[in-house]
Amino acid sequence: MESVKSAEPIDPVDPVEPKDPVEPVEPVEPPANAPDADTNAPDTNASDTDAPDADAANGAPTGERQEHQPPPEPRPATGGKAPDTAEPSGGTLYVVGTPIGNLEDLSPRSRRVLEQADCIACEDTRHSGLLLNRLGIRGRRLLSFHAHNEAARMPQLLEALASGEAVAVISDAGLPGIADPGEGLVAAARRNGHPVICIPGPCALTTALVSSGLPSGRFCFEGFLPARGGPRRERLGALAREERTLVFYEAPHRLVALLEDLLSQLGNRPLQVARELTKRHEQQVGPTVEAALAHFRATPPLGECTVVVGGAEPVSLCWDPIALGQELAALVAGGLSRREAARTLAERSGHSRRELYALLHAEPGTVPPDPEGDP
Ligand code: SAM
Repeated sequence: MESVKSAEPIDPVDPVEPKDPVEPVEPVEPPANAPDADTNAPDTNASDTDAPDADAANGAPTGERQEHQPPPEPRPATGGKAPDTAEPSGGTLYVVGTPIGNLEDLSPRSRRVLEQADCIACEDTRHSGLLLNRLGIRGRRLLSFHAHNEAARMPQLLEALASGEAVAVISDAGLPGIADPGEGLVAAARRNGHPVICIPGPCALTTALVSSGLPSGRFCFEGFLPARGGPRRERLGALAREERTLVFYEAPHRLVALLEDLLSQLGNRPLQVARELTKRHEQQVGPTVEAALAHFRATPPLGECTVVVGGAEPVSLCWDPIALGQELAALVAGGLSRREAARTLAERSGHSRRELYALLHAEPGTVPPDPEGDP
């Protein structure tokens, strides 16, 4: 893997710049103030601040409220189609993916939209202000938009769209709406008739999946599992028969616990842990749950991790009391009650919950009859 040089210190904050005129959509060269090619691997998620509940212009001192600029002349709306003349277009919500580590992953189109949007809704104005500064995008009006102020902020953003402003939404890193705020705003914009355009960008889920070597044609993204062991194992138990490749996000301090639960609930499946994707210390650890567990027990994980796990082998629908009994026993050993185990296996196998529950109580050595009536 090619490594990149370490990030340089954040540039000092510059004064607000005037808004650039809207350019026709043509391939554009990165502006002269774009970051150097060799300063492309900062940890964009390394925010050491709490999400402030304040508006800001990146370029203005942190947390300072910026006077709202007069609304711009409405630009022609696009009717929900990708614009072919000017972007960003007034009255449109742009969902913009930002780098998950490597600043060079910001596309020219994303850059233009962020440089020219009337305002940018972001989880943490300080974090995004620094990121935008690093990207050479300065003087934007930033509005905090996160789980704790979503309800209050939403009407303001919808009003901005209604008044003809081009609004961009970003998260701390990656795609908004993927384990990050964004989906509620997109749904509200659509309900209110505003065009929504996603400017595709980096996403840890897809980056980890396609580099894992595990089947990527069909997959199941579960985001973060519950932090507490019991609910996490229960969720994994419910996924044990999922045949598609599974993808999880996990915090580094919970990775070993997740791997232990994967082993107890799903067995020693094929697995890749993608750590620090797109960054200087990018690493893939596998090829199985046990191998990754041994590695991370010896070398505690640092940085950000996405876990990709092979799906279950297809289940035979025939009534095999020994195999079914073993699956039930594994579910119970994983923490489910007998009733929950029977219900879980019924959902996965198509067999009746009542018959599976009876199987759990069968005398060892006795083979219950096939409930579907096959000889
Ligand atoms: N919206 C983001 C996206 O599109 O990927 C995900 C945000 S979620 C709050 C953060 C989680 O994504 C991290 O805990 C980690 O599991 C995963 N992640 C983010 N950046 C990563 C990276 N560079 N390498 C591996 N996993 C990453």
